[in-house]
Amino acid sequence: MPIIEMHGVKRFYVMGDITVKALRTIDLSIEQGEFVAVMGPSGSGKSTLMNIIGCLDKPTDGVYMLDGLNTKEAKMDEFADIRNQKIGFVFQGFNLLSRTTAVENVELPLFYNRKKRISDSLKRAEAALKKVGLGTRLDHVPSQLSGGQQQRVAIARALVNDPAFILADEPTGNLDTETTIEIMALFQELNDQGITIVMVTHEPDMACYVKRIITMQDGLVVSDRQVNDRKKAS
Ligand code: ADP
Ligand code: ADP
Repeated sequence: MPIIEMHGVKRFYVMGDITVKALRTIDLSIEQGEFVAVMGPSGSGKSTLMNIIGCLDKPTDGVYMLDGLNTKEAKMDEFADIRNQKIGFVFQGFNLLSRTTAVENVELPLFYNRKKRISDSLKRAEAALKKVGLGTRLDHVPSQLSGGQQQRVAIARALVNDPAFILADEPTGNLDTETTIEIMALFQELNDQGITIVMVTHEPDMACYVKRIITMQDGLVVSDRQVNDRKKAS
C-alpha cells in the first residue's frame, strides 16, 4: 500500500472572476522507503501540492489517500490529527522556539498528540536528537547552535512522532554548501533506515541525492523519474 496516493487531485483558487488552476490533475503514488524531490519553476504548484500532501489544505477535487486513510472524509479535527500523527515537517527556516532547549523543541509534537498520553516524551526526544547526531546538545537553545545543528533539531522534531513520512520544504535553503551536503547526508542515512522523505525544492543541485525526481510545470507533473546514479552525500 502506498504511503501517499493521489487520484485526479485538483486545486483551484477562485478570486472573483479569476480562477487560478494551481493543480490541474495530479495522479501520484509514493511508496514506503522512497526519497523524492518535487521540483519545478516558481508558480508551478509545488507549494500547493506540498500543502495538500501535508494536510494543510484539501483538494478542490480528487482523492488523497495518506497511509490508507481517505483525507477527504476526515473532519477538521481528524484532519489535524492525521497531520500531527502521520507527517513530520521540516522547513527552510527551522521554525524552532528560540527560548526553548533542543530537547524541549523536539518534545513539542508529542504534546500535540491528543490520542495518547505520552509519559516517555523526554526519552523519545533524547533518542531522536541522538539519531541526528546531537546527543551532546540537548540543553542548548537555538542561538547556541549553528544553522546545520538547528536544522538537525528540526529533523529530530519531525522524527519524534514516528511519522509515516517526512515532508521537507526547501530544507537546505538557509544553509551554506558544506552544511547542505551534511543535511542531505543525514536525510540519506535516515532514508537508508527506511524513512520515507518527500522534499520540495527548486535547487537542481539537490536532485543528485534523491532516488526519484518529480518535476512540475503549470500545475501538472511533467516528468517523474528514478535517479539511477544517485550521489552519496558525505
Ligand atoms: P510554487 O510553489 O511552485 O511557486 P504555488 O503552488 O505557490 O507554486 O503556486 C501555483 C499557482 O497558484 C501560482 O499561479 C500562484 O500564484 C497560485 N496560488 C498559490 N497560492 C494561491 C492562493 N492562496 N491564492 C491564489 N493563488 C494562489
Ligand atoms: P514558497 O516560498 O514556499 O514558494 P510561495 O511564495 O509560493 O511560497 O507562497 C507563500 C504563500 O502565499 C503560500 O501559502 C501560498 O499559498 C500563498 N500564495 C502564493 N501565491 C499567491 C497568490 N497569487 N495569491 C495569494 N496567495 C498566494
